[in-house]
Amino acid sequence: MSEKIDKIRELLSEIETEFNPQEADSFERNFDALELPDIVSQIVDYLQPHLHPYEAAIYWYLFRHSVIKQGTQRVRVSVRGLCSGVIKSSSGQSEKLSYASVQDTLRGLEEKKCIRKDGDTNREGTPYLVLIPEEIPWCVEHMKTAKENLATYIVDEVRDVDYYNVAENRIKIFERDLYKCKYCGKQLTRFSATLDHIQPVSHGGLNSFDNLVTACLHCNSSRGNRPVMEAVTKGNAEP
Ligand SMILES: [Zn+2]
Repeated sequence: MSEKIDKIRELLSEIETEFNPQEADSFERNFDALELPDIVSQIVDYLQPHLHPYEAAIYWYLFRHSVIKQGTQRVRVSVRGLCSGVIKSSSGQSEKLSYASVQDTLRGLEEKKCIRKDGDTNREGTPYLVLIPEEIPWCVEHMKTAKENLATYIVDEVRDVDYYNVAENRIKIFERDLYKCKYCGKQLTRFSATLDHIQPVSHGGLNSFDNLVTACLHCNSSRGNRPVMEAVTKGNAEP
């Protein structure tokens, strides 16, 4: 019996070592190739406009050697290594960036929370985590406001398209109704046809496709603000 219990204890402790919650916490994110187009778009749209040219170049370089190369955000870099082969110096004295400008650039990227030191520097360089826009608070803010602005640009077809005042839209209603008065059935032309609001404007009716019908001038003016069904069923005989 006690042998069995020991066996169970042994198994339990094996399970525990297999699942170490601390390890699970530090499990790093692995990027799927399918996510890349979205991430790249977010970088170009929201992150890069706020970086200096060297910062952008080095950020992309680090991104390429972490997320793209290994599917993780970790990369080890040496300042000296980044001096050449990343971007041409703008100083004009040399193709290479100076040691100091690489240092400044890395510091700038850290201050902007685009990268974060991820361990101690050794002879091969300093380990960094390359953060993506959705992990950078100020970038997330930009993405949020951009989405809000976008929402106001999206045209609400029902509310915002005017079928009453825009000539080519008026014609769409006449064509839908085959140029016939919806109340008396009289055949009209584009010169004699008028538009009537089903729900009157004075009652909050919109100039929308669904709220307008073709009417002859007589029906239109005699209907007034009466409910549309009354105008149809009782005709528009003069009172
Ligand atoms: Zn009519």
